Amino acid sequence: MGLKLFNTLSRSVQEFAPLDPAGKKVGMYCCGPTVYDFAHIGNWRTFVFADLVRRYLEFNGHAVTHVMNITDIEDKIIKGVREAKTTLPEFTGRYEAAFLEDLKTLNCREPHQKPRATEHIPEIISLIEKLIQRGVAYKAADGSVYFSIEKYRGCGCNYGQLLKLNFDEMRAGERVKSDEYAKESVADFALWKARVPEDGDIFWPGPFGEGRPGWHIECSAMSMKILGASFDLHLGGEDLIFPHHEDEIAQSEGATGKPFVKYWLHGAFLLVEGKKMSKSLGNFFTLRDLLAKGFTGREIRYLLLTAHYRETFNFTLDGLAGAKTALARIDECIGKLRELSGSQTGFAGDPLSITPFVNALNDDLNISEAWACVFDWVRETNSRLAKNTLTPERAAIALGTWEHFDSVLGIGTKSAGEAPAEILVLTEARTTAKKTKDFKRADAIRDELKAKGWTIEDTPKGPKLKKL
Ligand code: AMP
Ligand code: ZN
Repeated sequence: MGLKLFNTLSRSVQEFAPLDPAGKKVGMYCCGPTVYDFAHIGNWRTFVFADLVRRYLEFNGHAVTHVMNITDIEDKIIKGVREAKTTLPEFTGRYEAAFLEDLKTLNCREPHQKPRATEHIPEIISLIEKLIQRGVAYKAADGSVYFSIEKYRGCGCNYGQLLKLNFDEMRAGERVKSDEYAKESVADFALWKARVPEDGDIFWPGPFGEGRPGWHIECSAMSMKILGASFDLHLGGEDLIFPHHEDEIAQSEGATGKPFVKYWLHGAFLLVEGKKMSKSLGNFFTLRDLLAKGFTGREIRYLLLTAHYRETFNFTLDGLAGAKTALARIDECIGKLRELSGSQTGFAGDPLSITPFVNALNDDLNISEAWACVFDWVRETNSRLAKNTLTPERAAIALGTWEHFDSVLGIGTKSAGEAPAEILVLTEARTTAKKTKDFKRADAIRDELKAKGWTIEDTPKGPKLKKL
């Protein structure tokens, strides 16, 4: 059984078959952050989900090109620049850098390409020109360029591929300039927004007059530039289905006449303590807020990865505390396996344990079932370790199994290597002091380590660091 995924386009679970005739290359685009603030934990659920998709495709041997755009020009950004009385690059640069740092903290594989909208204005303009030439876009009296849903549908194209829309309720000729609107107010949407005084000095010259791109056209232009007119996978949170992704399809297919994306994947929303995140409710967390509370990126990643991507997930601080316990069980088991296997590495793993894990993920990325397989394996391995029925070679094979699991899960394990560099240097210095029989110095270093929260146990295999 191969990988099956729920495709929002067909509203069904489908076998995943890449467009590449060799079945190897996969093009994947995930709508990236709008860099006007620090990304919150809900955003991170979606980006960790995208990382899971990418890791699992790579686990299956696909050569993935993962593209994630940076939305660095958009309504909220312009407002932010105005309020902060700064420049566009200064304002967005700060949040982009924070985002990329957070991506690392959560151990997400870095996208191969991270195009910025402001660096693709010529591509955006030429896509809009193509839509005008094809008769599905027009310049309105306010100087902005709009996409005509009526003309597009008149060409036999389908607007409403991801979401069923009631066109009888639509008022022909109405326009919406804002990037965000509900399906009840579906109308011609803006591709190019004519310069207005509130934009300050944020505008570009264009053949249709000075202005800036709408949000939806940015993603069509950047995804097709890098991945081609048709590509395999497009991801985002469920709130992007309409209008953002529906408009992306209309713009792209309206310009090329080719099917835009084969599989659309949408992650369900994250609630915090059972409610929609909001600053006034005090349940609004950025990744940094959680790190400041003493949680680690690894614990946060684990918790975000526990629920199926199509289920609403309730994120709680208690759940995060529970993540610590779950990870400690894994760490303890892996630590013992490492001790027993000695220096033996590079074993392939046990297919009997890996196969159920793979079957679970093949079933539309059933991650809760995959975790159940991992914890069954931990329980069984612990019981063998307790009964002393594992040989060093079997322990090394078990480590190989864990490496397979972890190449998809990306949570890693705690080890002495995780101690800060300063602690490792001190440990090394103590070993040297002991070797040269400078016990006074060795004891002084031990005390220093203790003051910094670390203790050393001397084992037959050498010193072992432990956090106090
Ligand atoms: P934005 O930076 O607002 O463009 O959002 C970046 C990504 O986060 C998009 O794919 C959104 O769909 C997703 N997103 C926003 N809020 C949530 C949430 N509460 N839960 C899950 N994903 C979200
Ligand atoms: Zn997008």
